[in-house]
Parts: sequence; structure tokens; C-alpha cells
Amino acid sequence: MSESVLITGASQMLTLRGGPRRGNSLSNLGLVKDGAILVRDGKIVAVGPRAQMERRAEAKFADKFDLGGRVVLPGFVDSHTHLIHAASRAEEYELKIQGTSYEEIARKGGGILNSVKKLRAATKEALKRRAASALGEFAAHGTTTLEAKSGYGLDVASELKILDLHRELNQEQPLEIVSTFLGAHVVPPEFRGKAGGAEKYLDLLMEKLLPEVVVRDLAEYCDVFCERGAFTVGQSRKLLAKAKEHGLASRLHAEQLSRTGATQLAVEMGAASCDHLEHVNNADIRALAKSKTVATLLPGCDFHLGLKEYAPARKLIAAGAIVALATDYNPGTSPTMSMPMVLSLACDQLRMIPAEAIAAATINGAAALGRENAIGSLEAGKQADLAAYEVEDYREIPYYFGMNLCWMTMKRGEIVWIKD
Ligand SMILES: [Zn+2]
Repeated sequence: MSESVLITGASQMLTLRGGPRRGNSLSNLGLVKDGAILVRDGKIVAVGPRAQMERRAEAKFADKFDLGGRVVLPGFVDSHTHLIHAASRAEEYELKIQGTSYEEIARKGGGILNSVKKLRAATKEALKRRAASALGEFAAHGTTTLEAKSGYGLDVASELKILDLHRELNQEQPLEIVSTFLGAHVVPPEFRGKAGGAEKYLDLLMEKLLPEVVVRDLAEYCDVFCERGAFTVGQSRKLLAKAKEHGLASRLHAEQLSRTGATQLAVEMGAASCDHLEHVNNADIRALAKSKTVATLLPGCDFHLGLKEYAPARKLIAAGAIVALATDYNPGTSPTMSMPMVLSLACDQLRMIPAEAIAAATINGAAALGRENAIGSLEAGKQADLAAYEVEDYREIPYYFGMNLCWMTMKRGEIVWIKD
């Protein structure tokens, strides 16, 4: 016989029921006071006010789990991370503080290429240990699903090493990892400075690496860093189209440091998401609003780089785009595993209200990964992925910044982290 669990004691339960949100509905949390959740076999059987849940026959025989008056919400869905990398870039952090720009550091072989050098030299075991420890931090902050991109290998063996690790970690630890192939992160050193170097590298990606990724079923998405110094819109279109033929859906790094037109490409390709968006124009915003492509904002990146210009979140929301939030966890521009910190930045810098930020980090994050029917809200039939916070009011989650108030994280009905 399967075991059921009745979770009670939620002073506020944010259900986020009703699917991905646009415009005014972004702030609709589906809040239930004194809520309860009935879970069986890792899935939600029923959700609602405690009194109603307790009347159900199954609830009477279920194990009980009391949240002690805490606030419960769906586990965060972090739809943009660069999980696998070999080391921090603390040395560049110092240079940036002293005034060297991110692009200048990149031109001198720092930036992404610095991480590529370190990753190629690292053993698979060392990379795995580092990622496993990061995953523990993600769980401790209330994240239950995250996307992970390759892109620090940039040769056949190293990219496959990263994608293999996504699969291994997905099987060996409780958080769900959605794998993205980002071979087109930047042009690797051995192809740089040569005539047609970028094109030759793209050929390698399309002819050799992509088919291998597909045969081994190592990724669900293909992503491109479409940016000056990385790949053009034309090159991005070529690779994403090829990936699509192979069955990989598209996502894009778009308009981060400059406006390239990547957002229009994302919409044209029917991409699942289009991420960064600091430099979108009004036409880009209108195009996103009319599409199903999720506009994923990564304020941790601007914060860490000390930039003044954040993405125009208010304009995107007002226009009706599906806005999501993610950490962009990576060693160069956003070294954080904390979605609560990202919520604080979304509120303080993007001027989103706490309810909007929470919806953007849960149900809309799930939409960015094509999983809005399985995760991202507390509804019957979905996975029992949730997190409880040591606060009296959900608005305190972003209000207290730089602190971790997560008390317990549950993935598929199992407690994967709890504060002792
Ligand atoms: Zn990124």
C-alpha cells in the first residue's frame, strides 16, 4: 500500500494555481490561509484549506507533517544556470571592482575563456564534487528544479563531459536537472583570430558535437550566447535551426551587453525562453508579449557586475510578456545559488512586487522549461515540490535580503533539506 502524507500548519500557502502568468495576473499567488497539502507517491493529491483537506478519507490515515505556521510555496524553478564549472573567478571580481570592464577582461583571455581553460584541465570527479555541493546550496535555498548549461568545454570531449555530468547528477541526487547544450557560448581559443574561425567552430558544433549530443540523448535544449564578441544573429539562427531538426528546442542569451536582435530571433524560432534582456527595445518587448517565449530576467548578473542598467521588467510585465526570474549561477557574472536573493534584487532593482517575483520564480520558471504541467505550482496531479520559509508573511522572503530563511525543501514528496 502506498503511503500518504498530509502537510498542515501553513499559515500562508501560495498555490500559484492556474498556469503561467502575464500582465496583472503575475501577482496572483492563489494564496490560501491555513492551507494543507495531501501527497501520495511524490505527487500532490489535493490542496486546500486545512479543514477541507482533513475531511478527506485518505487524510485520516495519512502520515502527518506540520509546518508549524510557516509559509509554503512551490519549489523554485531556476531556469538558467551554468552549473558545471571548475572554479570561481574571484581574481577577475577584484579587477572588475577596480574598473576593468567585463568585455575588456574577456578580450584578454579572461572571462568565459578563463573558465574554459580551467574546465578542460579539471577531472570529471572534481567537477562533479563542486556541482554536487552547489546543488546542496540550491536545495537549501528552496530550489527544486534547475536548468544547467554546458558551454565551458567548447571542444567535443569537454562538452560531452559536462553533459554527461548533468545526466549523472540528475540520477544521483534529488533535484531535477534540465540539460541544455551551450556549445555556442563563445568561440574557443583554437578557432580565434583566424579567418572564418567562428564559422569553422559552428561547423564542428553542427557536424560533430550536436549529432553526438542527440544520439546520447544528453540535452533537451540548445542555447546560444548571441552577443558582440560571441555569436551573431545569423550564426545563432543557423545553429538553432540545425538543433531543432535534431529535436532540441531553442533558448537564447539575448540583449545582455548590447542589442543584437536576438529577441526577435527567439520569437521567430519559437524559443522556450529568451534570457537577460537588459537592452531590449519596444519592438522586442511587443514581440515577446505576443509570443509564448518566456522573458527570463537575471538581475544577479547586473548586481554582481555593478551595472546600473537592469532589464525593463515593468515594461515587459505591462506589455504582457511571460516574465521569469533565474539566478544565472555562473563563476563570472552571477555566483549565487540563492533564488531568495534574486527575488530581493527583482523587488529592489526591477521594481517587481514580491508576489510578482515569486510567480516569476515558480510557475513562469516552469514554463521557461516546458514543465508548467508538472511543476511550478501546488495543484493536484503535480509533483510535490515545495519549500517552507521561516517568515510570517511571504513578502518577507525578498524583504530580508542576503539571508536564507528557507526552513525545509521537498522534492517529489521527499524532504531534501531541512534546517536543524
Ligand atoms: Zn547565462
